[in-house]
Amino acid sequence: MTSQPNERVFRGRPAAPGFAVGRAWRLAEGGGAVARVAGPPEAEQAAFDRGLRLAAEQLTQLSAASDGLGADILEFQLALLDDDDLIDPVRKRIAAGVAADEAWIARLDEEIDGYLAANDEHMAARAADLRDVRDRVLRAIAGSDEVATIPDGSILIADDLTPSTFLGLDWSRLGGAVLTGGSATSHVSILARSRGVPMLVEVQPEPDAACGEPIAIDATGGVLFVCPGAATLAGLEASRAADARIAAEALAVERLPAVTADGRSIKVLVNVNAPGDLDGLSPAICDGIGLTRTEFLFAHGAPDEATQLAVYGRILAWAGGRPVTIRTLDAGGDKPVPGITIDGESNPFLGTRGLRLSLKRPHIFRVQLKALARAAAAGPLRIMVPMVTVPEEMEAARRLLDETVDELQRQGIAHARPPLGMMVEVPAAALMAEQFATDFYSIGSNDLGQYVTAVARDISGLSHLTREPNPTVLELIGRTVAAGRRRGVPVSLCGDMASRPELTGALLDTGLDTLSVAPASVGRVKLAVARAVSGPRP
Ligand code: PEP
Ligand code: MG
Repeated sequence: MTSQPNERVFRGRPAAPGFAVGRAWRLAEGGGAVARVAGPPEAEQAAFDRGLRLAAEQLTQLSAASDGLGADILEFQLALLDDDDLIDPVRKRIAAGVAADEAWIARLDEEIDGYLAANDEHMAARAADLRDVRDRVLRAIAGSDEVATIPDGSILIADDLTPSTFLGLDWSRLGGAVLTGGSATSHVSILARSRGVPMLVEVQPEPDAACGEPIAIDATGGVLFVCPGAATLAGLEASRAADARIAAEALAVERLPAVTADGRSIKVLVNVNAPGDLDGLSPAICDGIGLTRTEFLFAHGAPDEATQLAVYGRILAWAGGRPVTIRTLDAGGDKPVPGITIDGESNPFLGTRGLRLSLKRPHIFRVQLKALARAAAAGPLRIMVPMVTVPEEMEAARRLLDETVDELQRQGIAHARPPLGMMVEVPAAALMAEQFATDFYSIGSNDLGQYVTAVARDISGLSHLTREPNPTVLELIGRTVAAGRRRGVPVSLCGDMASRPELTGALLDTGLDTLSVAPASVGRVKLAVARAVSGPRP
C-alpha cells in the first residue's frame, strides 16, 4: 500500500461520530456566511437586491406575529431597508466594484458607530437593531446561492457554526464538518449528532487544507487527515466497517424494550430538535418523546397559535399515544431569536434565556401555552419549561397556564390541561429540587454541566474541565432522582449524556430509569442498558 507523502494529520474532539471522505470547503469566519467570490457589479447589485428583499420578507413575517416592543423594533428595521440615505451609498460602492456584502457591512458599520457615539441607552439599543439588520441581509446575500454551490460530498471547515447556519445547509449532499472552535456540548453539535452528520470540533492547529483539497475525517476517533494516503483510507474504511457492525447490532435491538442485565426496565424516549427529525423515524423504537426543542420553530420570529398547534398536533400524531414532552421556548444563550431575545447582554448564557425570557414576553408565552393546551386535547402531552432557577418562576408559569386553560374553557375551545414540568439544568434547582411545585423533572445535563463547572458550553479549549461523566453532575442527578422519589413525581434525563452509551451505566447508577436520547442513539443506548448490572440507589 502506498503512503501519501503530502498527508497531514490534525487532531480534534469528536462532536458527532462517523467517518467521511471528500473535499474541503471552507466557510467564512463565523460560519454565518459562506465564503463568496464577488461577481461583476451587475451580479453584486442583484445579490444585494435579493438580500434586501429576503430580509424584508422575513421581517414582515415576523412583525405579523409580534406586538409590543418586538413590533416596534421590526418596524424600525423594515424602515431601514427602505431608507435611501442608507441604501444609495451601498449601491454606489457596488457600482464602483465593491462586493455587495463588503459595501453593505461598511455602510452599516458607519451608521452603527454613529449611534454608539451618541452614548445614549436608547441609541445603543437602536445600534443593536442595526447590527441585527446588517447580519440578516448578509445571511440573505450569502445564503441565497452560495450554499447551493458547495460541491456535493464536501466536508466543511469553519471556525464555528451557528445552529441556524447548520439547519440552512443540505447535509444530505455534504460529508461532514470540521470546526477549529466549537465544543461538543454546543447546540450545533447536538444537531449534528441527531442528524448523523460526522463533526469534529476544536481541531488545532488550524488545518491547512485548501478549498477542494482531498480530506478525510474520523469523527469517532477525533482525527482529520488532509490529503489522506491509501493506508489511511484503508484504515478508515476498516473502522467504518467495524462501526457498521455495531450499528447493525443496535438496529436489531432498537424496537425491543430496554432491560438491564439484572432485570430493571428502563424507558428510552427520543429528543426532537427540529421539524423534520421525525421524518422516516418509527415511533416503535421509543417509549415516547422526552424533549421537543421548540426554538427552531421560532427561527424567524414567533409563529402564531395555529402554526404551533399544527406542529404539536403532528408530533402527537407521530407518537401514536406515547407520551410527548414539549419544551417551551428556550431562546437566548447560543440560540438568539431576532426581535425576541435581548441583544447586548454581556454573558447571554447567564442572562435572559429560557423561562426567564418567556416570563418577560408573556404575550409570546401565552400563545405557546394556548397552542400546547389545545394540542393536548389530542394526546398525552406534557409541557416542560427550561432554565428554572427559583420556585417562584415555576409558580408564575403555572399561573399563566391556569389562566390560559380557563380562557380556553370560557371560549369553549377543545383543550386539556397538560402536566407542567421543569428542566433541572441550573445547579440552584438541582440542589433544591424538592422545593419546586412541578409535575415532573427532566435533567438537562448540557446546561447543568456548563453552570456547575463555570465553562460556557460553546467555547473551546476548556474541555478538560468538563469531561463526562463529571462526578459533580452525577451527584446532582442523583439528588434530583431522590427528590423526585420523595415527591412521587417522575424524573428523566434529556441532556446529551443520555445519548452516550459509554455513560449509560453511570447514569443508571444514579437511580435514573428514564433516558431521552437522540434518535440515532436509541439502539446503542439499549445495548448499553442490556450490559448494565447496576441496581438503583438505595
Ligand atoms: C440541556 O441543557 O441538557 C438540555 C437538554 O437543553 P439544551 O441542550 O437545549 O439547552
Ligand atoms: Mg438546556
